[in-house]
Amino acid sequence: MAGTLFVVATPIGNLEDISPRAIKVLREVALIAAEDTRRTGHLLQRFGLTTRTTSFHEHSLKGKTSVLLERLLAGDDVALVSDAGTPGISDPGDPLIRAAYDAGIRVTPIPGPSAAVTAVSASGFGGGGFIFLGFPPTKGSARAAWIAALRAASAAVGAAVFYEAPHRIVDTLAQLRDALGDIEVVICRELTKIHEEVIHGSLGTLRLDEPRGEFTVVLNIGQIAAELRTADALAVVTAEDLAREFRDLTENQQKTRRQAIAAIARKHQLQARDVYARLEVAKSSGV
Ligand code: SAM
Repeated sequence: MAGTLFVVATPIGNLEDISPRAIKVLREVALIAAEDTRRTGHLLQRFGLTTRTTSFHEHSLKGKTSVLLERLLAGDDVALVSDAGTPGISDPGDPLIRAAYDAGIRVTPIPGPSAAVTAVSASGFGGGGFIFLGFPPTKGSARAAWIAALRAASAAVGAAVFYEAPHRIVDTLAQLRDALGDIEVVICRELTKIHEEVIHGSLGTLRLDEPRGEFTVVLNIGQIAAELRTADALAVVTAEDLAREFRDLTENQQKTRRQAIAAIARKHQLQARDVYARLEVAKSSGV
């Protein structure tokens, strides 16, 4: 019988945050696939575990996935752990997990800490749902699309959480203030560690001097003003896109002009008058 792939969450700082179940699984599996074997080694040592580890990181994913799959198919249980927190959340893991599904291998998550969920839980605005956006891209157009996704999400959920590197966080927060307005923010630094800080303020008033350590940021995107949401949506959906959808609705789906505009406005969370204005732009530019 094939083994089980356990996806095991480990502490994000304080080693006492590991669950008894995670320790049991890490003790009993045949092999631990670790993003950083040295770091996982410290964890194992702390709990007196002697299970074998093998590296499974960004650069070894391809080769290692097939080796680990063979072990699983041969009947060995394998635990997947990342540097810290929950594997597969802005961490390596996906290729192995997907390969396990393809091979019919059982996948069992062992829940535990994740910086994103920990930060949202302490924000005070995660109750209305949240969107997790990983690390902001550093390049221009990808970054603009990321901010656009953030704004668009504000129509559906109350909070957005993301990770950021210490040397980028000041610029990122300034850019977000310009793009989203002076909304409420909770900045979590070094969660669960000796120098933990949970700072509450707003994008316009909060100052970080010489930021150091690991950061997770939660934004109260429910506060993004309606006109900024609309401006953003307009930036994401081009006039050409809207004109194409309008033609489809009126010509193929027999909608009246008014019904089509209302449907497009609903779909893209725009005001009907903005859709109308954009269609006029598309018409005058011959699209
Ligand atoms: N998979 C991990 C998890 O579930 O928490 C996240 C991995 S991601 C590569 C690492 C990023 O998470 C760090 O750069 C930082 O932004 C955030 N992070 C990790 N530990 C943290 C901590 N103790 N306090 C605040 N943020 C943390």
